[in-house]
Amino acid sequence: MRALIKGGTIVNADAMTRADVLIEGEEIVLIGLDLDVEADEVIDAASKWVIPGGIDGHTHMELPFGGTFAKDTFETGTRAAAFGGTTTIIDFAVQPRGGTFRQGLDAWHEKADGKSCIDYGFHMIVSDMRDELLLEMDRLVEEGVTDFKLFTAYPGVFLSDDAAIFKALQRTTKNGGLILMHAENGVAIDAVASQMVDSGVTDPIGHGLARYPVFEGEATNRVIRLAKAAGAPVYFVHLSSKDALDEVRRARDEGLPVFAETCPQYLFLTLDDLGNGFEGAKFVCSPPLRADGHQQELWKGLIADDLQLIGTDHCPFDFHGQKEMGRGDFRKIPNGVPGVEERVDLMHDGGVVTGRITPSRFVELVSTAPARMFGLPRKGSVAVGMDADVVVYDPNRKHVLSASTHHMDVDYSCYEGRTVQGGSDVVISRGLVVVKDGAWLGHAGHGKFLRREPRGFSEATRAKLAAPAPTPVG
Ligand SMILES: [Zn+2]
Repeated sequence: MRALIKGGTIVNADAMTRADVLIEGEEIVLIGLDLDVEADEVIDAASKWVIPGGIDGHTHMELPFGGTFAKDTFETGTRAAAFGGTTTIIDFAVQPRGGTFRQGLDAWHEKADGKSCIDYGFHMIVSDMRDELLLEMDRLVEEGVTDFKLFTAYPGVFLSDDAAIFKALQRTTKNGGLILMHAENGVAIDAVASQMVDSGVTDPIGHGLARYPVFEGEATNRVIRLAKAAGAPVYFVHLSSKDALDEVRRARDEGLPVFAETCPQYLFLTLDDLGNGFEGAKFVCSPPLRADGHQQELWKGLIADDLQLIGTDHCPFDFHGQKEMGRGDFRKIPNGVPGVEERVDLMHDGGVVTGRITPSRFVELVSTAPARMFGLPRKGSVAVGMDADVVVYDPNRKHVLSASTHHMDVDYSCYEGRTVQGGSDVVISRGLVVVKDGAWLGHAGHGKFLRREPRGFSEATRAKLAAPAPTPVG
C-alpha cells in the first residue's frame, strides 16, 4: 500500500515546509516538492497541514477508581483518540496494592491486546513502593515500560512516603527509568476535605476548595528536592497551579532535570465550573480546576517551555450512574474527566488561533515533545524513516464540541457547545487510514504495544559518555 499526501504544508516542531509525503507500508519513505510517483491512494492536502499524529502520554482506559471503572475501553478510547488526531497513547497500568508490577502489567496487556485501534505504551502506577520492587523496576525498563508514577496524594490508596519516593528516584539513576509524580499533599487535603463535609459543604465545589494550590506547590517542591538529592530527573503529571509551576520554574532555573505537563482542563476550565450544584461533578478531577489567574500562568509556562507538553489525564466517568455516586459527599465522586478526543483541537484553537503559540510549538506540545520525553524515536515527526502516523489537519475548519457528536464512551462533554477552530480530516496510524472526513476506517487490534526507550540519564549511559573512545584494533 502506497499513499501520497499531496499539496500540504508539513508542520513539524522545527519547521514548516510545503512538500508531498509518500507512505509505503507502515513508514514515511519519501518527502519532496511536487512528487511525481505512483501511489494506490492520493490524499489531497491543499491548504491543509500535514502533522505528526498526536501522542497523549496520559490516559486511563478502564481504570478502577472508587468502586467503579473509567468507561472507555482500549477500543472505544483509542478510536475516539484517533478521531481527535491522536495516534499514540501511553496508558497507566496499575500495580495492585500488595502485589507486583508484573501483575499490573499483565492485566493491562490483557485489556489492550487485540483491542487498541492505535499504538500504545504503558507507564506503571506504583500503589505501594516496597524495597523488593526496586529490582522489578529494572525488568520493566528493559521491557519498554520506562516510567513509574508515584503519588503524594490519596493516603491509603496510592500515597508513597518520602523514603519510598526517594528510593524509587535513586533507582532510576541506575536503570534509566523516569519517575512521574502526582504531587499534591494528600494528607493535608484529606484533613481539609473532612472539615468541609463536617461543616456541611458536600457539593462538588468542596472538592475544588479543599485541594489548595499551595498543597500542590508544597508537594512539588518536596519532590523536586528529593530528586535533586537522588541526582535523578523527575516529571510532574497534570500540573494545575501557579504554585506548582513556580517550583518547576525555580528548579529549571537551577539547571535541574525537572519536567512537567499540563492538561487542557486546566487551560480551558476553572473552579467556577465546579460550582453549579451537583452538575459540578462532571468537572471533578485531581488536582482540581483552579480559580482564575492560574490559567494565564500555565499558558506562560507553555510559551517559556517550563511546561514541556500536553497530556489529557483522560479518565471518563458517566455523569449518570458513576459521578452520581458522590451525591451528598464530594469525596465519593469518581475523579476524572474525559478529553482524549479534544486535546489536539483545543490546543490548536486556544494556542495557535489566539496567537499564543506558533504552529510548530503546537505540534511540539501535542506530539514531538511526548515522543522525546517518553522514548518513542519513531514517532512525533513527519520525516523519512518515521512511522507513518500522519494527520491531514485543517487549521481553518470550525466545529462544535458536544457529547452528541463525540466518540468517547461517556455521557457528557466538559466543553459542551464550545466552537473550536481546527480539525483532523485524515488520520493515518502506521500507514493505515483510520479516519477520513468523519468516517471510521480503522479497526480494533491495529494498534501495537510500543516498547519505549529509557532516557539517557542512567549510570550506564553516563559511563559510556565519559569513557575514552575505544582504540581501533590493528
Ligand atoms: Zn492520571
